[in-house]
Amino acid sequence: MNHNLPSTQQQARLVDGVELLIEIIQSCGYDPMFANVINLEDVAGRLSAIAGKSPMWSWRYLRNIINHKLEPGKPIVEAALRLEIALKGIQVDIAKSDRIDVHAMGNVRPGSLILADSKPCAGCGLNYVPRVSNQRFHSDACRKEYRHRHKAW
Ligand SMILES: [Zn+2]
Repeated sequence: MNHNLPSTQQQARLVDGVELLIEIIQSCGYDPMFANVINLEDVAGRLSAIAGKSPMWSWRYLRNIINHKLEPGKPIVEAALRLEIALKGIQVDIAKSDRIDVHAMGNVRPGSLILADSKPCAGCGLNYVPRVSNQRFHSDACRKEYRHRHKAW
C-alpha cells in the first residue's frame, strides 16, 4: 500500500472541497478566475470568522487551493460547508434590506449590512447612524456648539 497517495475516497472529498470553495467565492460575489487579493481576503476572513480561526486563513492559501496547488484541510472544508449554509440566511437578510448611498466615517466595507437606524443630530440635523443608542449629536463639535448655544440663552 502506498501511503503517499490519498485513497479514492479521500481524493473525492478533496476535489469536493476545492469545488465547494470555488462555489463559496462565487456566492460571495467574486469570479474565482479573476478574484484579486482583496476579494480572496474577504472570503478567507469570512471562512475564518465562521470557524473561529485566528490568525485567519491567508488569501494565498485560498488561491493555492482553487488553483489545485494545495489540498484543502478538513477545517477549511468544514468552514466552507458552514458558510454555504450561512450565505443562504444572508441572502434572505440582504433581500429585506435597501441599497442606499451612505457616507461612512467608520470602517464600513462596501456592501455591509447596517442593522442600526439613522437619526437626526440634535445639533445640526444631519442624519447619522449613532455609535450608541443614546447618542444625541453626530460629533463632539456639534455637542459643544449646542451646549455653548444653550448656555448663552
Ligand atoms: Zn451634528
